[in-house]
Amino acid sequence: MPSRESCVISKGEKRSGRRSKKEAGHKGAVFTAALGLNVRGSVPSLPVTFWQPIRSFALSQLTSLVRRATLRESDLAPKYEKVHNFKVHTFRGPHWCEYCANFMWGLIAQGVKCADCGLNVHKQCSKVVPNDCQPDLRHVKKVYSCDLTTLVKAHNTKRPMVVDMCIQEIEARGLQSEGLYRISGFSELIEDVKMAFDRDGEKADISSSVYEDINIITGALKLYFRELPIPLITYDAYPRFIEAAKIADPDKRLESLHEALKLLPPAHCETLRYLMAHLKRVTQYEKENLMSSENLGIVFGPTLMRAPELDAMTALNDIRYQRLVVETLITNEDVLF
Ligand SMILES: [Zn+2]
Ligand SMILES: [Zn+2]
Repeated sequence: MPSRESCVISKGEKRSGRRSKKEAGHKGAVFTAALGLNVRGSVPSLPVTFWQPIRSFALSQLTSLVRRATLRESDLAPKYEKVHNFKVHTFRGPHWCEYCANFMWGLIAQGVKCADCGLNVHKQCSKVVPNDCQPDLRHVKKVYSCDLTTLVKAHNTKRPMVVDMCIQEIEARGLQSEGLYRISGFSELIEDVKMAFDRDGEKADISSSVYEDINIITGALKLYFRELPIPLITYDAYPRFIEAAKIADPDKRLESLHEALKLLPPAHCETLRYLMAHLKRVTQYEKENLMSSENLGIVFGPTLMRAPELDAMTALNDIRYQRLVVETLITNEDVLF
């Protein structure tokens, strides 16, 4: 992998061709002469290396200025931090790293490309690139099974649009529906809603004129959470939530849950807060819909939480704690978030 010092051809130089190389050689000769160095034999190669750090620095400054300028346009976007989704990439034709501005050497797998925003950098540089990925809708095509933070950043929304739209629809016409979230709708129609979101995004029509049965909408919302590559309560935070649920003292349990919530990425935490406030409103219609926070915990526990390791026994053991986590989050939604 070429380092900043060893890559002697930069973007600017390649474009201006031979002449600039000669000029650089000349400047370098003057410089070395001024320093009293006798480097005659290596004059053609040394100056380029000599000027390179300065040029690289200038170019990187320029790149960051351009990036900063484009960032300013999206000031209204939620300030969620997102890591790039780098994949090894084979570039056709000459390519330059968008982080260090140096050439990407080699014929195949010259560097990595972010699958969400299209940023091209050296493999080495990818380790130091800031977590400022701004996904592009050209790269992020699906809604379901797309990483939650990637989706909200790509669509410039606070929460996934599926969550907001389904919840609004359910609150408009479903709060009194018996067995809300427990009864499942036709799976074919739920798949149909999923396809509509994947195809049309926020323009998807989920009104009663298209899907009369509210259980199709609740089914589509549950499916969205189930298909998240990283669950709403992330794998990283999972053990802390389970630990909290095991605490018998209610006050200490709440305190521990509050600490666990801090481990969630901001977009996950915001979506969880919104969902819990909604589920609390569902329980306020318990007389009609027969859904208590305990019942909703049974439905949503395994939907929002998945054990990071695939050990079947532990996963089975955890189910009751998953239910308890969700039940406690719903009941204490107002104090926890
Ligand atoms: Zn990216
Ligand atoms: Zn680089």
